[in-house]
Amino acid sequence: MKAIIIYALLLLALIDVGSSLTLTSGQRIAPRKSQTTSVAENLPKEDVEITSLSSQSCIPQSFFDLPSVEKWGEENGLKQHHLKTIYRVVMNSSSTFMSNEKDSTANNIFLEDKLRALDFPKKHIPSLLSKFTYTCTIHHIEKSQGGAKFVIQLQNGKLVESVLIEHTRPNGVKRYTVCVSSQIGCAKKCSFCATGTMGLVGQLSSGEILEQIHLLNQYVQKEYSTHGKEGSIRNVVFMGMGEPLDTYDAVHESLRGITHQCLFGLKAKQVTLSTVGASAQKIRALADEAPQVCLALSLHSAIQSSREELIPSAISSPIDDIGDALDYHALKSGRGSMLEYLLIDGVNDSDEEVDALAEFCLKRKGSIYVNLIPYNPTLAGDDFGYRTPSDERISVFHEKLKEAGVKALVRWSTTNGRDANGACGQLALSSSLEE
Ligand code: SF4
Repeated sequence: MKAIIIYALLLLALIDVGSSLTLTSGQRIAPRKSQTTSVAENLPKEDVEITSLSSQSCIPQSFFDLPSVEKWGEENGLKQHHLKTIYRVVMNSSSTFMSNEKDSTANNIFLEDKLRALDFPKKHIPSLLSKFTYTCTIHHIEKSQGGAKFVIQLQNGKLVESVLIEHTRPNGVKRYTVCVSSQIGCAKKCSFCATGTMGLVGQLSSGEILEQIHLLNQYVQKEYSTHGKEGSIRNVVFMGMGEPLDTYDAVHESLRGITHQCLFGLKAKQVTLSTVGASAQKIRALADEAPQVCLALSLHSAIQSSREELIPSAISSPIDDIGDALDYHALKSGRGSMLEYLLIDGVNDSDEEVDALAEFCLKRKGSIYVNLIPYNPTLAGDDFGYRTPSDERISVFHEKLKEAGVKALVRWSTTNGRDANGACGQLALSSSLEE
């Protein structure tokens, strides 16, 4: 998705938007009552359906694949507290996580010792460790100012990217946001986006999404223990590779893990899902099933024809339908949405575009907060001759929006991280997708 857009300030702004409105009760994501009656289940399937290797029965699945772990537990007569023990042990494993250091035997010995120490039924340990494993490792890390990009290797050898964004609070305490990928590549082919040039290579399972967070969390813990301080992950954003609404079931299931008290224990409002508006119907499904999750819509133009130039897939999601879906989301969640607008010189920064954007936002009656994001050069955008507007033009666009009564900020900070290709629209693997 807009790939890594936003960094700390965006998240803080999101929280500001939410806190100015009524927050609904309940912060964790419950399992879906029925996989067969969900709104999302009735949606059309994607043209491309690629099954993750870890979902094949003969290959060990992720410890973070909650439905599979729960099914295994049920088949073996285990109780809820046994599953909680598994999750706690898996979360606190201190094994190695770099691809070139992976040692499954050492992992299993470590996990077995921990499980035995916690009175987990011994006879089930071999079965657990043969059916489940850590499926992802860190291939390499590219550090940049204010964060780092992690190239994550999946069990099938494919690579995806996650980004760690560091926030330093006024009191000096560090907090982190993790930006996760939901797909390998992306089918949407947005003209400004490096990930879009890859096409859709594969879908991630919920376990693979959660393992990205786990790996970065382990990294944070290790970095901090080295320096004798404490650090923690406070936000998760679905802004990495892929359109999360195109893999809704896996994303929804991962939300359950993110908010599970024995796993990451975050509140749903600490999670942001960013979409190019792939489907109005799926925005409604998210509003129904996980209303506390923050929604960020990458609109980039409120003029449908111009929007389709930037986001070709927008042809199947008319802007009025997306606007109605945002209204529905606001109604169900009791909070506003973030709207992301990538400003490209001479493409979507005209006065006509400002007027259309203002009209779109004002129709939503104050529930929209706009982030104006100066375009970050990418090879994909270079092919279209895209350029960053001048600071003066950006300021004029911003002022006009504000004069119209729209809440908006310019995210100058999104240019941070360019050196690691972790800024907006820049997440695409320049290296081979397979080892
Ligand atoms: S191609 Fe579009 S939807 Fe896909 S990751 Fe890039 S910006 Fe997001």
